[in-house]
Amino acid sequence: MKVFEKAPAKINLSLDVLHKREDGYHEVEMVMTMVDLADRIEMQELPRDTIIISSQAGYIPLDEKNLAFQAARLIKDRYDVKQGVYIHLDKKIPVAAGLAGGSSDAAATLRGLNRLWRLGIGADELQKLGAELGSDVPFCVTGGTAIARGRGEKLEPIESPPQCWVILAKPPINVSTSEIYGKLNAAGIRKHPSTEGVLRAIREKRFDLLCGELGNVLEEVTLDLYPEVRQLKEVMIKLGAEGVLMSGSGPTVFGLVSKETKIPRIYNGLRGFCKDVFAVRLLT
Ligand code: ATP
Repeated sequence: MKVFEKAPAKINLSLDVLHKREDGYHEVEMVMTMVDLADRIEMQELPRDTIIISSQAGYIPLDEKNLAFQAARLIKDRYDVKQGVYIHLDKKIPVAAGLAGGSSDAAATLRGLNRLWRLGIGADELQKLGAELGSDVPFCVTGGTAIARGRGEKLEPIESPPQCWVILAKPPINVSTSEIYGKLNAAGIRKHPSTEGVLRAIREKRFDLLCGELGNVLEEVTLDLYPEVRQLKEVMIKLGAEGVLMSGSGPTVFGLVSKETKIPRIYNGLRGFCKDVFAVRLLT
């Protein structure tokens, strides 16, 4: 038996940090949605009690450090599954990019193994399992568009943003999420994004308002550490993207674009700066 799952990338339309908690995590408030750029995950049952990971991408761990491996082990342990699984990750999402590629792979593995082994686990329980693997995994389990609070695990689904093009560009640097959060001075944030503004733009289906309200508190840290990300934002605005923001902890920058006719100019202009450029639609 074999199953397939798509693991789409996420972007943050807003990312706010309210404060640093006593347990060391940051209390966040984020509006997240998914885009049509996805890894493809194949899961094949093995009669032996083992988990094997493979991928065409040479630059991700293929052992227990891989989040898909951790997802498989968690579900096997928790539901006492004796069979093993061979998991192939066809990676399309750039790694360590702020697009939650690893988290989405983990979430897709939970969904896929739930089907493969006919475990009948409900969405709530899958999200709880996901929270044990990482802060972005619960959102990736169900996808759509949602407000995430807590450390990312408290989710409230909301309606989709107005459909548009999304240009993603990742400069050739890798950014560690924990380093960026570690360097954020949560008590001294210069400007908090307006979560309410983003929510209103979505409710009223106003693309122009959405573009104006995008905000990510982590830009304060990443843009100072990596000036190429700041430069990439400026280039994307100059090329005509209507709303531009860094996703997650970066370094990927995304631009929202309302008209398809604008895409070739922006896409080609960005290719002069980075190899990883994608023009996709929102997954609504
Ligand atoms: P987030 O936005 O959730 O912080 P990210 O997009 O910044 O995630 P990932 O692509 O998830 O980053 O990769 C972060 C790290 O996780 C990398 O250093 C990578 O080696 C490791 N990793 C583990 N499993 C995977 C996976 N299945 N795909 C990609 N990276 C993985």
